[in-house]
This record gives sequence, C-alpha cells and structure tokens, in this order.
Amino acid sequence: MSMYVVGHKIPDSDSICGAIALAYLKNQIDEPAIAARLGELSPETAFILERFGFEAPLFKESYAGEEVYIVDHSELTQAPDDIAKATIVGIVDHHKLGDLTTSTPLECWIRPVGCSNTIIKMMYDFYKVDIPANIAGIMMCAILSDTVIFKSPTCTTADIRCVEALAEIAGIEDFKALGMEMFKVKSAVEGTPARVLVMRDFKDFNMNGNLIGIGQLEVIDLAVFDSIKADLEADIKALKAEGKRHSVLLLLTDIMKEGSEMLVISDDSELTQKAFGKATVDGKVWLDGVLSRKKQVVPQLQKAFA
Ligand code: MG
Ligand code: MG
Ligand code: MG
Repeated sequence: MSMYVVGHKIPDSDSICGAIALAYLKNQIDEPAIAARLGELSPETAFILERFGFEAPLFKESYAGEEVYIVDHSELTQAPDDIAKATIVGIVDHHKLGDLTTSTPLECWIRPVGCSNTIIKMMYDFYKVDIPANIAGIMMCAILSDTVIFKSPTCTTADIRCVEALAEIAGIEDFKALGMEMFKVKSAVEGTPARVLVMRDFKDFNMNGNLIGIGQLEVIDLAVFDSIKADLEADIKALKAEGKRHSVLLLLTDIMKEGSEMLVISDDSELTQKAFGKATVDGKVWLDGVLSRKKQVVPQLQKAFA
C-alpha cells in the first residue's frame, strides 16, 4: 500500500514541492509513496512546477483508511478533514508544534528552520539518496519562497547552505534572480477577485478557543494594492460575517521595504494594540519589519489570547 505525502490546506510552494520531493525520496528507499495536495496551485507554485517540468500532485481531500505523511504543518485546522481516520506515518515541518495527534508511533522531522524543504534535504542526506536536478530546483524555489529570498527572520544558515547546494545540483547560477522572478509572479494581483487573493495564502489558527484567520500576500511593491485595497477590506469583512471567526487579518507584505500593512476585522477592537503595541486605525496597521506570519504575527497574537 502506498502512503500519501500531503501538505497543508490552501497549499503553498513548500507544501507542493515538499510533497513531490519527499514522495520521490520515499520511493527510493522502498517505501511506496504518492505526492498529493489539498487544493489548487498558487500562481507562484504553478510557475515553479512549469519551470522544472512537473505536473501538479494528485488532488485528494479524503484520507480515511490511508497512510499519510504530513508536510509543512501539524495543525488540525490545516490538515485533511478526515485525518483522524487516517494513519499518520510521519510529519516533516518547521512550524510550532500543533494539535495533530496519532494512535501509532510515527516519524517526526521537525526543525526550527525556514522551510520544510530544508528538512527534506536533510532527509535525503540522512538516507544518502541523490537528488535529481529537477527536484533540487523545486526544493530550492520552495526555500526561497518561504524565506523570502533569505530576508525573513525565519531564515537560518541551514536554509542558505541548502539553497546553495540545491542550486548547484539544479544547475541554477543566479538563484536570487529566479527568486525575484517568483515574487514578480506573486505580485501580479490586479484583475484577480478579492476573495481569491484573501484566500491565496490563508491559515486558520485556534487561539485559546478563538478561531483566527490570517491571510498573507507578499509582493515587491505595496502600490499594487492601491486600486484594490478597499475591495480586500470589504472582502475580509464579508468573510468574517460568513463564518465563526473571532478575527480575520490580511497581511500585505512589502518584501523590499520589509514590513507589512495588516488589514484587520476583529471582535476585539484592541487586538493589534495588545499583540503588537500598535492601534488599528481605520481597519489598518503598519507593522514595520514584519515579514513572517509564523514568527512575527502568530506568537504575538497567541499571547494576546492567552
Ligand atoms: Mg506552508
Ligand atoms: Mg513552509
Ligand atoms: Mg509563506
């Protein structure tokens, strides 16, 4: 029986490229595996797969009765809906430990680095399996994406060394230029419906019993939002009204200025004051230096809800 290797809901490049890279490794060590995904590819991920000649992994939402290797998360809210009816055989992740539990022993590769693909590279080294050039290419791009081309405070020396090694295997001379090309694809937001943008990189978190949804759009210049910001604000308001979330937050991240404007809709009008020491004015707050949802937003909010 093959295991499925699957990343989080609303998959990003780390989840998709990680599933492909880890499924390949598992097959090399005689553990049959199939790469899968829980949602549509983002334009950035589509660009990466096209660049290195890969098809999208299998779209599969239900895993009851299956063996599953989890990539790039350990939170129930981000996992397949029926994960409780599956057997989790392993987790490779670089986030805070979430609330997924298992009834059988499992393999855990969890490290405080900038990207799951950095850990998957460590797994290749551990098993002494060669990485094919095209897989090295997608792993490298995933790391450049997650670390915002090394600018994110989540980026570690291990991530940088890993990109350098993968670039060499993939035969990419100027990996930073390829990274910028990726972020240019990401910055093409005009003409896309507001809801698609809000949900493009959206994660729900359970914070002390409160459901908090946080989206993020990383672009080269925040001016791309000038003509659509009002639509985005209206949409997160609508999204909150549709569900049972305490707050819906949207980070508009400028990777060149290195900071984020956060659009805020919340049951608590003091939320950003409590979490970041800055008041929300007119539904918005500028957070200087904030690039990482995982390291500079989620822990601060979690504290505010403690
Ligand atoms: Mg991810
Ligand atoms: Mg990741
Ligand atoms: Mg990210």
